[in-house]
Amino acid sequence: MAVAKSVLPVEPAAQPGIPLGLVRTRAELGAVVGAAGEPGYRAEQVHRWVFSRGQADPQAMTSLPKPLRGRLSEVAWQRWLQPLKLEVDADGTRKGLLSVHDSARPPAEIEAVLIPGRSRLTLCLSTQAGCAVGCPFCATGLLGLRRNLSAPEIAGQVLWAQSSAGRFPTHVVFMGMGEPLANWEAVRHAIDLLRGPDGFGIGSRRLTVSTAGVAPGILQLAGEPGLQVNLALSLHAPNDRLRDRLVPLNRRWPLEPLMEAVRTYIRATRRRVSFEYVMLADVNDTPELARELADRVGGLLCHVNLIPYNPVPGLPFEPSPDAAVKRFAGILEGRGVAVTVRMPRGRSIHAACGQLGAAWRAAQR
Ligand code: SAH
Ligand code: SF4
Repeated sequence: MAVAKSVLPVEPAAQPGIPLGLVRTRAELGAVVGAAGEPGYRAEQVHRWVFSRGQADPQAMTSLPKPLRGRLSEVAWQRWLQPLKLEVDADGTRKGLLSVHDSARPPAEIEAVLIPGRSRLTLCLSTQAGCAVGCPFCATGLLGLRRNLSAPEIAGQVLWAQSSAGRFPTHVVFMGMGEPLANWEAVRHAIDLLRGPDGFGIGSRRLTVSTAGVAPGILQLAGEPGLQVNLALSLHAPNDRLRDRLVPLNRRWPLEPLMEAVRTYIRATRRRVSFEYVMLADVNDTPELARELADRVGGLLCHVNLIPYNPVPGLPFEPSPDAAVKRFAGILEGRGVAVTVRMPRGRSIHAACGQLGAAWRAAQR
């Protein structure tokens, strides 16, 4: 189905972009403002400008004295995010191609996607530029890893969302470029910049971390039950032979230790895990594999999301036909496994390298 799309030029006024140097927690901002010789309540004002109003450029912080604005500008522009391109799908999904800059690192391009829902706005953000995992069906996998993103570069994508859509996202999924648990320290810090009164105020339960299966990372999440973010595991295959091929990380952490980590996570957090399963025609969509999958996840506190594949030009994978998806879902349901299938969105813009299917499903929960 052809879906209309429009490519909007990024306004010249937005140049050189969105400063990220003040995307810091209250305590961190307190230290910056203190070093400028200003009282603590100024830090609170800066925090409000950035995290409540989405304004991270000190020159626009009109309630601050001019000299302080000048001092803060030096910090604010140490790193920034520059929108390069905006694509808007007929269904309202918006994809931004963004370039991240940091005086200490090479610039890199990433993508962020905004998915409007009935009452929500979900931001699908990137955690790395590129990805080292190399899943053969994924466009990001083709790139290899360019570099990790810092916490402000991850959480700062909310500021792009706010400037692009005119409002803050209500939900965030870590399903853009990159493997979040391979950049855990920055992702963990970014979670603090996103949630609660210290950050953009997005509730922990509205944050979803997606992983290709870094078992030690899942155990780390299990060790922090107070974090309360959602976990999505990109399973895509119920046995090691197939999963070794589709998710190369499986050779390092095969299904047995991986599922053991998931069981530990569920025991520790009592939270439902989502298993993502991208439906690839004649690769992982047969009835036998559906039964094997039911055996693998049956009895766990979980939900299976069947993701329609967004084809990537040049890659030898095709989306499963609707009938195969229905049959697969039916077998899982018949075995008592909670399963969701929905129509893809943002197809015309190949959102987040075709990863939009997973993000959209997470947006519906
Ligand atoms: N690296 C993490 C998070 C980013 S990918 C992970 O793999 O979980 C987010 C989701 O998009 C994963 O489930 C991934 O398998 C899926 N995905 C990647 N390319 C896709 C495509 N072309 N079509 C549909 N889903 C895709
Ligand atoms: Fe990396 Fe996820 Fe793409 Fe695999 S699916 S290559 S882990 S971004």
